[in-house]
Amino acid sequence: MARRVVCVLASLMASAPLAALAHAQLRGTIATTTVAVDLQAGLRAPVLMRLRPADGPQWVNAVPERLPTSVQHGATSIPLRWRLARGLSSVGPTRIEFVYESRRPHLRLTSEWYVRAAFGPVEHRITIDNLSDHEYWIAPPDSLRLSWQVAPRTPLTQFYVEKGAGEPTSHGTHSINVPDGYAWTGWSTTFAHPVPGRPREIIPYEAVFSPATGGRGWYAGIEFSGRTRITLARAGDHLSSALGLDPTPAPVITRLAPGKAFVTPTVFLGAFSGGPDGAGNQLRPWVRAVLGSPRTWSDPDYPLTVDNSWGVGIDINEAAARKMIKDAAALGFEMFHLDAGWFREVGDWYPDPRKFPHGLLPLVEDAHAHGMKFGLWVDWAQAGLDREPGALDLRKPAVRDWLVADVPPHWKPQPFKGQTIDLGVPAAKAYALGEVNRIVSDYHLDMLEHDGYLVAQGCTRTDHPHAAPEPRHMTVEHYQGEDIVTSSNSTDVSYHAVRAYYDIYARLRRRHPDLLLEICNDGGRMIDFGSAAHGDYFSITDTYTPLANRQAFYDASFVLPPAMLESYEQKWPTPTRGRFLYMLRSGMMGWLTVMQNTNDWTRTQHAAARRALALYKTRLRPLIRDAELFHISARPDGVHWDGMEYWDPQRRRGVVFAFHGSDPAERTHRFILKGLESSGLYELHFEDGTAPDIRVSGRQLMTSGIAVALPQPLTSELVFLSAVSDRSHRPPIGSSSG
Ligand SMILES: [Zn+2]
Repeated sequence: MARRVVCVLASLMASAPLAALAHAQLRGTIATTTVAVDLQAGLRAPVLMRLRPADGPQWVNAVPERLPTSVQHGATSIPLRWRLARGLSSVGPTRIEFVYESRRPHLRLTSEWYVRAAFGPVEHRITIDNLSDHEYWIAPPDSLRLSWQVAPRTPLTQFYVEKGAGEPTSHGTHSINVPDGYAWTGWSTTFAHPVPGRPREIIPYEAVFSPATGGRGWYAGIEFSGRTRITLARAGDHLSSALGLDPTPAPVITRLAPGKAFVTPTVFLGAFSGGPDGAGNQLRPWVRAVLGSPRTWSDPDYPLTVDNSWGVGIDINEAAARKMIKDAAALGFEMFHLDAGWFREVGDWYPDPRKFPHGLLPLVEDAHAHGMKFGLWVDWAQAGLDREPGALDLRKPAVRDWLVADVPPHWKPQPFKGQTIDLGVPAAKAYALGEVNRIVSDYHLDMLEHDGYLVAQGCTRTDHPHAAPEPRHMTVEHYQGEDIVTSSNSTDVSYHAVRAYYDIYARLRRRHPDLLLEICNDGGRMIDFGSAAHGDYFSITDTYTPLANRQAFYDASFVLPPAMLESYEQKWPTPTRGRFLYMLRSGMMGWLTVMQNTNDWTRTQHAAARRALALYKTRLRPLIRDAELFHISARPDGVHWDGMEYWDPQRRRGVVFAFHGSDPAERTHRFILKGLESSGLYELHFEDGTAPDIRVSGRQLMTSGIAVALPQPLTSELVFLSAVSDRSHRPPIGSSSG
């Protein structure tokens, strides 16, 4: 959007009939180095006035926050009259709280804006406290509603990315023109299953930018794993967006117990330049600084290289695991990850005595003796039928009450999947908290992976804390061994279950500060900013081929730190060393987990893997942790070339991952680089020796690019870059690029 247009809009704004502004009481501005947000508390509702990017035109908002208009008490609907509580409100440099009160019933609504880092987005949430002695039910307000004034013909682009879920779709990353009349909704749940008529779920994030002005725009996202949705619509001179809990199927209501509060999912709102990668190079370090675990990031070995036992499948046992550990250690892996197959039965999280007659501890000690950490897969929110002491047996009446739905009479768990318990039930949560703590303590874990659908959505019970289902509109769908209940209570069920899950993991981390937590939900179904705040890394997809890994990484890396993005690599045809490296490197742009029995690798493959892992640890990992990331090709399709560029402006080093797809005709490819200095000079080193070292100017690298020649299909190259000139400098990480 051009600066001139905004001036016109600003003058329009002055005459806008905004009732809430007529009696403005309080004003404040909350700001980081990249964005400022002007806020105003009207008598009846707060208003976000303007979003002011540090280096671009401002966005003027046209609507006040929409506060709940009524509550339910039994069968009665009681209208709410909110009034600004000036004395309770506060305006500070890093936190603004506008407080509103309703007299009858006595409720308090706090609209909070705050910053947690010097750079990046600002955050917002709304809390509604029930100060009365009665229970009420309320329709949850959106976390954020925006209605920017835009000049009618200004071209705008919307950008969003899908979850990798079970398998990445053929699109994954979307860049869409936003014409007048545009209306879009993106959904996120912990299931990411294909709902008829709905597209693949998104990582709950959207960005809108003007392609004509260097990709300047704003972005917003939701820090929550439950059922949420984001809308975007353009009509006339307004661009509207709503972010929050999914209000469908309607009517969605939640309980306001006496003395208790409802809190909307937190959202973040920022401004950027430089298109989607410009947004990403601001957001990724912010996620690390604000949502990430300081303890985890303080370990220079994060992200780790992992050998996973699924390479031998469900038949893993102590002897096989010891053999894997020995070989993995020799190859240079840093963690052994014991996957499904180790336990007695689903819900009975004790080692299977037939496979692990000495328990897990000797194995853990073996990994530690080899200098490796030890991680474990647990589907800890699932009940089964095992009657052993300590097992979560769903025939017990208490456990049965925690299930989201009764199981049929002859129900049996699958080998590693049972029936989800509703963590929103306090007793179920208490069990799960005790059990995950026991597992981590008993087995001396360095890492805990959760899997399965541990967060319920939709529940048939009427005696749980969430809203009761609407029996007339309830559907129960059997999906991959799960009962997925959909009704008007689905959003509320997921709200309570996610809050419980977050609390369990927050407490687990306090008790075991060095524990790593892997977020997996049948692959990449829980990739969101709430999970990012409660775990250390994500399984990004449940399909483990080189192509699926690169696609899922391409998508998710637009919004999340690459160190948090785990690729599982399964056995794949690798008749040549080139193919073998292609397979390995397809998972080496972020967190690497090899899910193969490395004992089956040839001597040549062992040597290649040892070298590749050493290179990962010494040269790639520092870039994966700290560098800026640029998507320098179209999304991988397996046929054509694709590539990714890391550039660290501090170390003045970078790397280009280059992949040649299956088309034998495309023997060479040119990658246009980004983020460098035009006036700088760069030394290029081709790791596999496919070209001699060469010095090239930044200008040339960013206009005509670098040519990579790989005659064989399904091969790869790593091109390391280092600056040889120090004539100019770049802004530090976290400042916007563009
Ligand atoms: Zn329930």
